[in-house]
Amino acid sequence: MFSTKSGANLLRVATPFCFCIFLSALVPTFGSIKPTTEPQGGIAEPAREATAQKFVEGKLRVWQERMGLQDWKIQVQLVRSDKLEPRTLGDVHWDTDLKQATIGVLSTYDYPLPYQPMLADMEVTVVHELVHIELASIPHTDAGRPEEEHAVVALTRVLLGMAK
Ligand SMILES: [Zn+2]
Repeated sequence: MFSTKSGANLLRVATPFCFCIFLSALVPTFGSIKPTTEPQGGIAEPAREATAQKFVEGKLRVWQERMGLQDWKIQVQLVRSDKLEPRTLGDVHWDTDLKQATIGVLSTYDYPLPYQPMLADMEVTVVHELVHIELASIPHTDAGRPEEEHAVVALTRVLLGMAK
C-alpha cells in the first residue's frame, strides 16, 4: 500500500497517500450502526449524494484558499467504503512534483451519520486531508505516520475552531 517509487524520490514521496480518520473516533458505537438505506430528511439518496458532492467541492475551495494551497490542483470525490481502508472516512493521494492531489470522502451511501452532522463531518475530512497536503513536502517515513496523523488531527481541530 506504499509507494513503489525508489531511489532519490523515495524519501520525498515515501508516503504519497494517507488513509485517514478512523470511524471509531467519530462514532464509538460504529459497528452497531449500519448505513441507512432509507431517505433521510425527505431527501432521496441520489440527491443527497449530489448535494454532498457539491458541498465538499465548495468546502475544498474555501479551505484551499485559506490554507494558501491555490497553486495545487486538488479534486475531491465521494467514494464508496470499499474504496477506502476499513473504518476510515477519507483518504488523500498527492503528487508533490505536479502539485496535484485527490481527496476521497466517504460516500453518503455509507456514512453512518444523519445528513447535517454528516456534512459537518465531511468538512472535517476535507480540512484534515488538506493539512496532509500542506505537509506533503516534508519527508515522510512509515515510522512517523502515527505522529503525523496525531499532528494533523490536532491542526485540523485548531483550524476549524478558528474558522467559527
Ligand atoms: Zn490523516
